[in-house]
Amino acid sequence: ENRRAEEAARRTLARRQRESEAVVAVALSPALADGAVRDLVVALTETAARALEVERVGVWLFEENETRLVNMDLFTSSTGVHTSGGVLITAEYQDEFEALRNAKYVDAHDALTDSRTKGYVEGYLKPNKITSMLDAAIRGGGRHLGLVCIEHVARPHHWEDDEIAFACQLADQIALAIANQERKRTEQELQKTIRELEAATARANEMAGQAEAANKAKSEFLANMSHEIRTPMNGVIGITSLLLDTPMGDEQKKLAATVMNSAESLLTLLNDILDFSKMEAGKLAIAQTDFNLRKLLDEVIRPLELGVAEKGLAFLCSVDSDIPDRLRGDPNRLRQILNNLIGNAVKFTEAGEVEVKVERLQKPKPARQTDLPHLQQTQSVSLRFSVRDTGIGIPPHKQSLIFEKFSQVDASSTRRFGGAGLGLAISRQLTELMGGEIGLESEEGVGTTFWFTLDLDPGAAESQPISPIEPTGLRGARVLVVDDAKINRVVAESILKKLGIHTDCASDGAEGLAALDKNHYDLVLMDVQMPGVDGFEATRIFRSMESGRRIPIIAMTAHAMQGDREKCIAAGMDDYITKPILPGALAHMLAKWLPQALTGGGGEPEVKKS
Ligand code: ADP
Repeated sequence: ENRRAEEAARRTLARRQRESEAVVAVALSPALADGAVRDLVVALTETAARALEVERVGVWLFEENETRLVNMDLFTSSTGVHTSGGVLITAEYQDEFEALRNAKYVDAHDALTDSRTKGYVEGYLKPNKITSMLDAAIRGGGRHLGLVCIEHVARPHHWEDDEIAFACQLADQIALAIANQERKRTEQELQKTIRELEAATARANEMAGQAEAANKAKSEFLANMSHEIRTPMNGVIGITSLLLDTPMGDEQKKLAATVMNSAESLLTLLNDILDFSKMEAGKLAIAQTDFNLRKLLDEVIRPLELGVAEKGLAFLCSVDSDIPDRLRGDPNRLRQILNNLIGNAVKFTEAGEVEVKVERLQKPKPARQTDLPHLQQTQSVSLRFSVRDTGIGIPPHKQSLIFEKFSQVDASSTRRFGGAGLGLAISRQLTELMGGEIGLESEEGVGTTFWFTLDLDPGAAESQPISPIEPTGLRGARVLVVDDAKINRVVAESILKKLGIHTDCASDGAEGLAALDKNHYDLVLMDVQMPGVDGFEATRIFRSMESGRRIPIIAMTAHAMQGDREKCIAAGMDDYITKPILPGALAHMLAKWLPQALTGGGGEPEVKKS
C-alpha cells in the first residue's frame, strides 16, 4: 500500500514537473509573442499530450461567426501524428458549448455518462474510444474563442487539480497568442494605411508640382505675350498721341482719337490679364507710397465724365471731411479698383445716377495721455468706399459668382455689354491683398452698390511740388535713347525733337555704352529688357566707368516691370517711366531731371547713389 502510494505521489510530482516545463516552454516560444497562432498550437498539443500522458490533445477554434468549431490541430500520442480540419457544427452541440461558455473548464472524468459531454457520446467519444475528457475554454476580448480538448482512452481517468489548472493555462496562452495575432494584423494594416497615405501624399505633391509648373509656364507665357503685344501697342499709342498734336481737320481728329481710345482699351485689357496672371502666381506686390486720396478720385472720375454726360447720368462724389488728404498705400492699385467699379457702374446704368462715396468707418479715438506719440502717428484710417448705381442690377443667384474670374451675368452671345469678366476678380484680389473686404448689394432693375474697405495709414505731407514744365528750358539738351524696339525709339525721338532736344538712339546696351563713350549726353532713357547687354547691365557698366558729373539715367519699363523700381535704382538708374511713353509724362520726367543735369545741381535728395 505504502509503495503504491509512494509511486502515485512520485508520478504526480513528475507530471507537475512536466506541466510547469511545458507552460514555461510555451510562454517563451517566439510564436506566442509573434501571434503565430498555428505554430504555437501545433507545438502546444504535442507538449501537452506528453506532459499529461494522454492519447490526444486538440485545439478547436470558432470561426468568425461562431457557427462552426474547427479543429486547428489534433495530436495523437500513440501514432505521433498531427491532424487538423475536423468540424463541429455549433447548432448541434448547443448544451455542450453552453456548459463551457459558463465555466472555465469541463472536467468529465467519466465522459460517457457526464451530462456536460453527453452530446459527444455517439458521434465522437465512442468512435474515438474516449473515456475521460478535459476541456478548457479559450476566451479573449470578452468572447468565447474556442477550447483546448484533452482526451483520455482506455480506463477512465480522474482529472487532478494540477491537470485542470494546466489545461486552463494552455487555453490562456492560446488566447494571448490570438490577441497578439490581432494586434499584429492591426499594426500591419496601420502600416499599410500609412504607406498608402505616404504614396498618396507623394502623388499629390507630384501633381501639385506639375500644376505649379504648368501655372508658372502659363504666367510666363502671359508675361512674354504681353511684352510682345505691348511694344507695337506703345507704338500705336505714342504715334497717335503725336499725330493728335499735329494740325488736323475735325474729321481726322475724331478718327485719330478713336484709334487712341481703342488702343488704350486694349492696353487696359492687356494689363488686366497680366495682373491676373501675376496675382495667380502670387507675384503681385502692393506698394506703400504716400498719395492724395481726393486727387486720386479726381483722376479716376475725370476720364469717365464723357461717358456719364453722354448717357445723361447724374454723377455724385463725396469724401468724408474727417478723412485726411494724404494717405499711405498703393495708389495705383486703389485707382484700378475704383476704375473697375465706377466703370462698371457707368457701363451698366442707362438712366439715373452713379454715386461714389468714401466714408470713415471708425472715428479716431481721442488721444490718451498714455499714448506714445509715434503710436498716435501711425493710427490707421478705416475707409469704406462705395459705388452706387441705378442700373440693371444683378440677380441674387449671380451675386456670389461675379467675383470669379471670367464670369459675367450675361454670358450669352447676344449680350449687350463687352468685357472680359476680369475686373471684379482683380478688384477682389487687390482688396484682399491690401487687407480689405469687398462686397455688393443689388436689386434687379433697381441698382447695385459695390463697396470695399481699406485700412490705410495717414501719409506724410507732399514733398516740394515738381516745378511746372518749361519745355523751353529743355531746348538744346542732349538725350540718348537706348531701346531695341524701333517703334519705341521713333516715338521717344519724335517727342524729344518736339521739345527741341537733340536726340541720339542706340538699339541695345552695347551700342548705348559705345555712344556714351563717344559723346556727352545730359540724360539717358534706357529700356530695361534688351538682348545682349540689358538696361540693368549697361547702367552698371556705365556707372562703374563714369567720371565727373553724374548723368541721370531713366528706365523705360513696361507696366509688367512695376515693383522692380528697387532693381532699377540698385542698378544705378535714377527714376523710371512706364510705357507707353506719352508726351506729357516724358516732358514731366525731363523737367524733373534735366535742369539739374544742365545746371549741375546734385541729384534729388530721395535718390540713392549707387
Ligand atoms: P466685365 O465688366 O469685364 O465683364 P467684371 O468682372 O468687371 O467684368 O464684371 C463681371 C460682371 O458683373 C459683368 O459682366 C456684369 O454682368 C456684372 N456687373 C458688374 N458690375 C455691375 C453693375 N454695376 N451693375 C450690373 N452688373 C454688373
